[in-house]
Amino acid sequence: MNDAAAPPLDAVHGDLALHARAQEILSLKARLEGLTGSAWHAGDAQRDLLAQKALLRTVLDESPDFIVLKDHQGNFLLCNQPVAEFYGTTPEAMVGKHDGHFSATKEQADQMRASVLAIMAHGRTEIVFEESTDHRSGQTRWFKSIKKPFLGDNGLPRILVIAHDITDIREAQQKVQDSERRLRYVLNVTGEGVWDWDLRTNALQHNQRWYELLGLDGTHLTGTVRDFQNCLFPEDLPDVMAAVQRCLDGHGPYRHEHRMRRLDGSAIWVLDRGDVVERDAQGRPLRMVGSFTDVTERRQAEELTQRLAFYDPLTGLPNRRLMLDRLQHALALGRRNGQLGALMFIDLDNFKSLNDSHGHASGDALLQEVARRLRDCLRANDTAARMGGDEFVVIAEDLGTLPLEAASQAQVIAARLVECIAQPYELEGKRYCGSGSIGIALFGLPDDTADELLKRADFAMYQAKDAGRHTLRFFDPAMQEAVLARAALAADLRHGLERGEMFIHLQPVVDGQGRRVGAEALARWLHPVRGVVQPLEFIELAEQHGLIPVLGRQVLEAACKQLAAWADDAATRQLTLSVNVSARQFHQPGFVEEVLQTLRHTGADANLLKLELTESLLLHDVEEVAQKMAALRAHGVRFSIDDFGTGYSSLAYLKRLPLDELKIDRSFINDLLSDPNDASIVQTILLLARSLSLKVVAEGVETVGQQHFLARHGCPFFQGYLFGRPAPAAAWEAVPA
Ligand code: C2E
Ligand code: CA
Ligand code: CA
Repeated sequence: MNDAAAPPLDAVHGDLALHARAQEILSLKARLEGLTGSAWHAGDAQRDLLAQKALLRTVLDESPDFIVLKDHQGNFLLCNQPVAEFYGTTPEAMVGKHDGHFSATKEQADQMRASVLAIMAHGRTEIVFEESTDHRSGQTRWFKSIKKPFLGDNGLPRILVIAHDITDIREAQQKVQDSERRLRYVLNVTGEGVWDWDLRTNALQHNQRWYELLGLDGTHLTGTVRDFQNCLFPEDLPDVMAAVQRCLDGHGPYRHEHRMRRLDGSAIWVLDRGDVVERDAQGRPLRMVGSFTDVTERRQAEELTQRLAFYDPLTGLPNRRLMLDRLQHALALGRRNGQLGALMFIDLDNFKSLNDSHGHASGDALLQEVARRLRDCLRANDTAARMGGDEFVVIAEDLGTLPLEAASQAQVIAARLVECIAQPYELEGKRYCGSGSIGIALFGLPDDTADELLKRADFAMYQAKDAGRHTLRFFDPAMQEAVLARAALAADLRHGLERGEMFIHLQPVVDGQGRRVGAEALARWLHPVRGVVQPLEFIELAEQHGLIPVLGRQVLEAACKQLAAWADDAATRQLTLSVNVSARQFHQPGFVEEVLQTLRHTGADANLLKLELTESLLLHDVEEVAQKMAALRAHGVRFSIDDFGTGYSSLAYLKRLPLDELKIDRSFINDLLSDPNDASIVQTILLLARSLSLKVVAEGVETVGQQHFLARHGCPFFQGYLFGRPAPAAAWEAVPA
């Protein structure tokens, strides 16, 4: 029998059984030999001996295993029937001979002999895997043999060999290995990345294809389910894990398409399928297997089809179809949130003559450049689309809830587009000057339809062409007029700021006894034709046209001059002055320095200046806000939150920022006595302010009743018509403090 390395599946278990049997046989044999040599009563002893010998013979011959006893030269001393049959002879005929007389090949015989001689030489029991040829069938069989050396009664070593036929087990094992190998080949050939997840140990195994798909070699892996998670894009992780979890929970196999990140950072799309293949008695999942199919090409094809269906190939802009879809969407959203929007129809002027004179290639280049400019010019959530030919459409959403405000925003956007389109072009090396006409239709009314809006915008576009091209028109003539008026007012405001038409009114802030403790500076504009204009008409306009920083600077300057003037009079020297600062102004890079410089050159006391900020300003870029506030606070400037209660307040920033005061918004004071909600909001603000050690001013106090309620709940300061309307400083000074 040849030694062989591969141990069978049940090696350990089988070893114990073989060992036990060898032990049993040796002790039986020893007992027989003991009997032969003893001074036993001859007759009984002889009978007993024969009986025992017969018993041993039966035990040996009935054993399915081969049992052999060899002498120190490797010759057979004893064999059982199965060995003899295997070698095609009888047990008796084998005695005194060695394997060479029976084995199929000399090689097998020599090896077996060498093996038993070696074992007898070192005297240790061994288990050996060997093959040998069956004389009856000519088949090769596999054996697992235990070879146990011992000392014979002649003082020479002997060896007991028990060989167990494991050919069937081995064949079965071979079959499993073969089929596993075949399966592996097949899976690799079909391109499936296969995984096998043992939930007990969390171990995750993959086939070669899996590594290839992800561009990995084993070095990057931990061999646990983390490997899989690491290859997912973080934003996909929750969906994928949810799909896996549903499967683990017993909802059947899962199928999920998602991206995987390759080692080089690129993404592939995979169809990931898997199922639980093993559960414990309680139904808990123990093992899950599955596969990945690379579906990247299909996904890319789908994306391409999608692009072709919804995007204009020349410019890459959404096409008419996608534009209509987005417009429907915008209309539905606007109906829900009350926000108005604008649909703009853009037609290039003289495009046909460009095409005729410069050729189609130039025409195409122009369209591409226009598309690029539209994209650059618009806000992130606006849509620009190409309708065909030289017609484009822009959808601008979220323009506010007031028609006039929305219209003026749309006007600002459209004017910018008109200007962008009119910048000179470089077409195939030649300079070209073009322009566009824009028609605008506002949307946001409940029964606006996409069709109707397109017609309106188109109609308005023709009005723009009629008006001489290179311009914009609103569909609604009244809107057109209002927008023009606002545009004119914006131009007036710009001039007004240059000419110094801005001034301030002061409104007193009083304490519980009605004594003036300070004032708020409120901007007023002395328009050359319209007279004094109120902030409601121009602050928003100034914001929209980027004029707020200039306006704010002028108001601050006037306020600081006022503080400096008050300092000369003992009666007014303690008064504080509050100035409104808009978010745009506050976020200007040089804001802190500007305030400090204004304080310096007017000579105003920084400790008497209060800047009123809105809650929304505080939420945006908190770090920057905190820094700027701290810098000014270090010079004595104080801060209050204006219109408190109307924005989103966070206790975190109230604590964190160097605040001095809250101003309760007028809207809560107004219905304080009739609306219990407002009353409790006001009480809450008062409590909050007290616990944060902030001062409180109630704004818009108009009646004694309101004042009493507020005072009763601990409000220390008031501002409102009850104590004085905003008025020029001169009028203020006439009233004794
Ligand atoms: P605000 O800061 O809340 O100013 C208080 C407004 O309430 C003032 O309106 C004032 O006239 C009005 N008011 C005061 N007491 C009462 C009252 O008892 N009843 C009623 N019904 N109203 C009262 P105004 O002056 O029209 O200012 C409106 C808003 O314009 C201000 O609201 C402020 O947000 C803004 N604003 C005014 N001046 C400036 C400025 O210089 N810069 C900036 N950025 N905004 C300013
Ligand atoms: Ca204010
Ligand atoms: Ca206010």
